[in-house]
Amino acid sequence: MEAVLAACRAAVDRPGRVVVLTGAGVSAESGIPTFRGKDGYWTVGAREYHPQELATHAAFETMPWEVWAWYLYRRGVCRQAEPNAGHRALVELGTAMPDRFALVTQNVDGLHRRAGNADRHVLAIHGDISQMRCADECVPDRWPIPEAVPALGKREPVSDAAKAVLVCGKCGGMARPHVLWFDESYDEPRYHFETVRAIAQDACLVVVAGTSAQTNLPWQVVTLGKRAGATIVDINIEDNPFGEIAEGSGGVIRGPAAAALTATVKSIVDHVRG
Ligand code: NAD
Repeated sequence: MEAVLAACRAAVDRPGRVVVLTGAGVSAESGIPTFRGKDGYWTVGAREYHPQELATHAAFETMPWEVWAWYLYRRGVCRQAEPNAGHRALVELGTAMPDRFALVTQNVDGLHRRAGNADRHVLAIHGDISQMRCADECVPDRWPIPEAVPALGKREPVSDAAKAVLVCGKCGGMARPHVLWFDESYDEPRYHFETVRAIAQDACLVVVAGTSAQTNLPWQVVTLGKRAGATIVDINIEDNPFGEIAEGSGGVIRGPAAAALTATVKSIVDHVRG
């Protein structure tokens, strides 16, 4: 691990942004399941769905209240969860490097903000599970899911009372979760597409933590950063395509994100504070 930490320290001596890209693995130690493994699956009727089938606009069109039930269950899991040491370490990094730090997260759980990261540092590129917007996109606005809507248990349907308030604040039509689905595209107003690309192109260091490299914008963050000369580091419990890129750059840390992020941030922060 020391060689990776040394590469991080050398990287931050160069000008540029210090970018951390987080995925579901960073919240796994807070008790939020990733999309892989048995906890990721969801049963509707007699069928078991993989998240990549359910987190789609196509699924929402055919069975909107079953998709809502899955999101309201997961929103409850996220609300119960607490930030872990990895989230807290990234708050320290933001405090130490307020003008250079950017936190690009695929997580929709809100734990980076709840840990204390400044809003201006957090770019939630897959949305926020605590928010909803118009399913017809009549306005770009989004609203918190009303407090009156309870967390659901597994196999618990959405009640009529909840359905009555899961509506667009403008047109009164059905609302949808404010998340990017697998069959949808990134954009700037909702998912910070251009901002994140620009940040990646200005990076001196990209630390990737807890993501399996299955989505497009995270892939761009790493490849654009690398092309711009950034050092790439990968933190994950498993090998993954980002690890292959990091092997030829700053290196990989194969272990749980909470401890690895804590060590990485301490090394950088001690270094920049002299
Ligand atoms: P993923 O489920 O595809 O992959 C998770 C990755 O984390 C894997 O590579 C796994 O090896 C790694 N991992 C698991 N535990 C870890 C740990 N303790 N330390 C380090 N690494 C660990 O998730 P993804 O690539 O982030 O993206 C899939 C999509 O799922 C995203 O769009 C995201 O929005 C959504 N998602 C979000 C949450 C959340 O908000 N917490 C949870 C599940 C899925």
